[in-house]
Amino acid sequence: MSIADNLLKYKNELDAAGVKLVAVSKNHPADAALEAYNAGQRIFGENLVQEMVDKQAQLPTDIDWHLIGHLQTNKVKYIAPFVKLIESVDSIKLLKEIDKQAAKNKRVIDCLLQIYIADEDTKFGLGFDEAIELLRSEEFESLKNVRIVGLMGIATNNGSELQTRAEFQELKVLFNGIKLSFFRKEDSFKEISMGMSADYKIAVAEGSTMVRIGSNIFGKRVIKHWKAEKE
Ligand SMILES: *Cc1c(COP(=O)(O)O)cnc(C)c1O
Repeated sequence: MSIADNLLKYKNELDAAGVKLVAVSKNHPADAALEAYNAGQRIFGENLVQEMVDKQAQLPTDIDWHLIGHLQTNKVKYIAPFVKLIESVDSIKLLKEIDKQAAKNKRVIDCLLQIYIADEDTKFGLGFDEAIELLRSEEFESLKNVRIVGLMGIATNNGSELQTRAEFQELKVLFNGIKLSFFRKEDSFKEISMGMSADYKIAVAEGSTMVRIGSNIFGKRVIKHWKAEKE
């Protein structure tokens, strides 16, 4: 199957479920992303700043770029002019830098808090308590150029179905709690980004609003495991 065929299969399935598809084009050339674009895809995910900046310059301007990997504060400035959603906010320090760079660009940047749900100590993200502490902080209160629109989580790699499901359920419970406590009146707080190629079906069943699919659309990456790809 071609990239376009793969894309349409997932897009149709997810559209029917009312779930957004983020096509994760990392480790694939801009041409591959363009093939998906030509088949109708408009949301793309990248985990490295440099790769996103390079592709953004080469590809059509109506693409929504999502940063899905760990983001270093000193690199925020490169994506601040155009990034649509930063899915991987994992500290107040990072959020403050995003706010600063967004203000410089006269924008408000949408963000997700990345929540640590996996049973592995190699993944980035905030613990449940840390996320709540961040949202309660006066520092957060003072930020005017960032908007938190939901949560993101990555389940344990190769976890059993039972474990994966339980992790997604935990994220959903946290989402509901945070919604009630902090964003009750804000319709914009509505996204739960969970699910990748291997586990998106479970994620959708557990309330995902946004799935991030790479290898099922673009084929295997050269460096296959995401853990090997950290900046
Ligand atoms: C690479 C990556 C994905 C996509 O993974 P696939 O298994 O190729 O679908 C999704 N989310 C994040 C955070 C990633 O780094």
